[in-house]
Amino acid sequence: MADEKKVMFHEMELDDRILKTISQLGWAHPTLIQETAIPLLLEGKDVLMRARTGSGKTAAFAIPAIQKILNLKNTTSHQCIKALILSPSKELCGQIASVINNLTLKCAREVRCIDISSSADTHIQKSLLLDKPDIVVATPSRALAHLKANNMRLKDDLSLLVVDEADLVFSFGYEDEIKELLGHLPKIYQAVLASATLSDDVLSLKKIVLRNPVTLKLEEPELAPASQLQHYHLFAEEDDKAAILYALLKLNLIRGKSIIFVRTVDRCYKLKLYLEQFKISSCVLNSELPAAVRCLSVEQFNRGRYQIIVASDEKALEKPDGGMLAGEEIGSKKRQKSKRRKDKESGVSRGIDFQHVSNVINFDFPLDVASYVHRAGRTARGNNQGSVLSFVSIREKPLMHAVEEHLSRGFKGQQVLQKYEFALEEVEGFRYRSRDAWRAVTRVAVREARLKEIKQELLNCRKLQGYFEENPTDLAALKRDKALHTVRVQPQLAHVPEYLLPAALRSEQGDDVEAPPAPKKRKQSNKPKFGSAKRHKYQARQSDPLKSFKVKNMTQPAAPSTA
Ligand code: AMP
Repeated sequence: MADEKKVMFHEMELDDRILKTISQLGWAHPTLIQETAIPLLLEGKDVLMRARTGSGKTAAFAIPAIQKILNLKNTTSHQCIKALILSPSKELCGQIASVINNLTLKCAREVRCIDISSSADTHIQKSLLLDKPDIVVATPSRALAHLKANNMRLKDDLSLLVVDEADLVFSFGYEDEIKELLGHLPKIYQAVLASATLSDDVLSLKKIVLRNPVTLKLEEPELAPASQLQHYHLFAEEDDKAAILYALLKLNLIRGKSIIFVRTVDRCYKLKLYLEQFKISSCVLNSELPAAVRCLSVEQFNRGRYQIIVASDEKALEKPDGGMLAGEEIGSKKRQKSKRRKDKESGVSRGIDFQHVSNVINFDFPLDVASYVHRAGRTARGNNQGSVLSFVSIREKPLMHAVEEHLSRGFKGQQVLQKYEFALEEVEGFRYRSRDAWRAVTRVAVREARLKEIKQELLNCRKLQGYFEENPTDLAALKRDKALHTVRVQPQLAHVPEYLLPAALRSEQGDDVEAPPAPKKRKQSNKPKFGSAKRHKYQARQSDPLKSFKVKNMTQPAAPSTA
């Protein structure tokens, strides 16, 4: 189109109540996908959209859905379920429902939305469904279960079907459920498929779900541009990775909220227990946690209760001996896993909307380029700044080169992964402390921590359910706040004495200094991250937050000892 002018929300013939909420949310203009998809959906077209999480795709289908329901309400008083939104996991369903609830703040009585993705509350859901909410959000299996139990009926009145993260719907094994579910829908309805990739599976779903669809393959870069998202790497082996992380956190050189990715579930706990010894609190996220706990972790992280979340990527597989698998083996394991449909609701790094993440830290380097891109996509969302810092061991170097090659292709051959300046010998004291703390987290401690967490969850579920329902946020916070304590915490480790600091950061008086205060629930800044320049007694005194890690005398990263 010759016309380059951006369409604004107020030019989309949206109801005032929607426009007011959009403005309250601070969305100045539509994202690319919204700009294109909203008018098409309002026209009544079926749409296949290739859009990643972070592109604003939820609102791209939610806004027209709400508008259409408001339109229908003007012409009929007949209450019925008008829109069904399917998504492959409880977390994603929860996010969609919360976007819709935000967008309907000013018309909450006219447009009601419920999320029935949890398998725990079937009875409550049944009674909620009897009220025929306008929008139902569900996983395919939950929707099908309620349809089969006659708790909801869609055959006569449904006017919109959305299948979000359609490619994940397949990888989570929901294909049959979707097909069966289609038999419960009316002959004619409008449909939307949203997917990060247009795989063959998605294209086959397109054939059975959509009629004459418009396909939107918007040319969005897979990651934010270099002006917004910086990629760093530093070479380090196992023990040094832990020491460097400890030093970066304690020296306040990593600022803002961070997601630390590790290779396995056990390493999630290992890192959490390790950091706990220095009074650095974090929460854990992995595909083996019950869905409710995962939602809680993300929610608490989003609300700022935790500044750090330690996540294991479900794709990561480990040999029993701890070595990583080669590419083909991973492929075959993955296939086996998907056949078993082990955990339909897993998928930590895909789709979950972690909000205001300033830093992604790859404590373990991702096993492939796609995984790097998914992880990196958790930060620099919307118009926010973000950074990715990858720790790279000798063994992980080939993976890093593959990522570097991939990223530089997108940036016209420029080197994208910058070297992060860090001289480990400057913080030798940290290394010394770290080594002990890292080793203190034995396999037994990790296993106990995992067991303890499961027991805690069971206890909470049975005994505290009533209170939990009345005070969901308070209790949730308390519940997750408990340190695991399967490793002895030595209070003195929380403090960073002056002699541990690199020379350039020591105060003139030579006093011991307190560790930085626990991060308060603070306003999210768009200018976060590594070496950020807020003055602190022992912070790098540089003005450029992203490139200023070079403390005087702190130059190149220490070469890993095992190089
Ligand atoms: P999504 O891709 O739907 O997961 O959305 C990613 C994030 O973008 C969410 O946190 C939304 O709140 C936010 N968002 C959606 N639309 C807009 C917009 N037009 N302007 C700014 N932020 C938006």
